[in-house]
Amino acid sequence: MVHNYYMPTRVIMGKDCITQNSGIFKSLGKKALIVTGALSAKRNGSEKDIKNALDSMGIDHIVFDQVMSNPTVSCVYEGAMVARENNVDFIIAIGGGSPMDAGKAIALLAVQDIDEESLFSGEFENKVLPMVLVPTTAGTGSEVTPYSVLTNEKAQTKMSIASDLLFPKVAFLDSKYMDDLPLITTINTAIDALSHAVEGMLSIKASTFSNVLAMESIRMIMNCVPDMIQALTETERLIDSAKREELLQASFIAGMVIAQTGTTAVHAMGYPLTYFKDIDHGRANGLLLGEYLRFVEKEQPDLVRRILGAMNLSEVEQFKALINRLLGEKEEISSEEIDHFSQTIQKKKLATSVVKPNEEDIKEMFIQSFMK
Ligand code: FE
Repeated sequence: MVHNYYMPTRVIMGKDCITQNSGIFKSLGKKALIVTGALSAKRNGSEKDIKNALDSMGIDHIVFDQVMSNPTVSCVYEGAMVARENNVDFIIAIGGGSPMDAGKAIALLAVQDIDEESLFSGEFENKVLPMVLVPTTAGTGSEVTPYSVLTNEKAQTKMSIASDLLFPKVAFLDSKYMDDLPLITTINTAIDALSHAVEGMLSIKASTFSNVLAMESIRMIMNCVPDMIQALTETERLIDSAKREELLQASFIAGMVIAQTGTTAVHAMGYPLTYFKDIDHGRANGLLLGEYLRFVEKEQPDLVRRILGAMNLSEVEQFKALINRLLGEKEEISSEEIDHFSQTIQKKKLATSVVKPNEEDIKEMFIQSFMK
């Protein structure tokens, strides 16, 4: 197989990296649209750091803070309208996966007339507004991927726009914005990143290079799991800043993995859990990941052994036990729901899985994953 490595995003990381690199905004234009959710970027100080950096460079800015979690197609069209009406030169997206993915789609729709039917085609003219991304959770890796994942109400699922145009120009990684992130969000996003790294290794597009990144990302995330389990038993539920930094780095590295490989069966199965049952995206992946590893193990035991090796584990069961402790009590899922989800799953993501599950396999994995 021919592999093509492309990752054109400049990544600047470390404490106060925005403040110390405000000059970078100067090259991007005179007016910015800050895309974010309603609250978190204001609470964690990231929006303030961005605004101060822009002010210090004399760059005008406006804020679109209407991004909900699992942003809809109509939300990004609305954001693009704001970008057009205000003639902004570039986009700064701050937040978890939702504002970052919305910001990327807005950057595209601000300069191209794309109707809803063509939005997920990936075939666009060669123009987009430059994007700066600031993750405030450690999970999605969107800051280094060419994807924007949106909720498509018409298709009743989450869908990805994939285009090299969506690679951000710059990503700023500062884990101080995560210091007060609730523990459950920390866990769910860490599991999302873990799922990216693992699925990357279980993709037919995996290369030596993506596997090197994936193995290290898996190792780093699993290194933080004992702290997360411990924090679940404490009243303060704190994760120390060194571990926060490690999780952010691991999530960015896992993002570089899926930028090359895409996600596979676990994400495909997780999307209906999020769309129809409102289960958090990372949690949905976590519920399914162990069973998928067990499924792949039957045909590719060496590959699964390598993944478990990076986790410092020897059995899939050990992995399932750890992840179950992180996830706590599982949701109920009916056999009608399992039938529905198994039939409507996006086939495209299954096609890139090293071991491709059929509808019966998927049903079985859903059943096993939700067993109490
Ligand atoms: Fe994900």
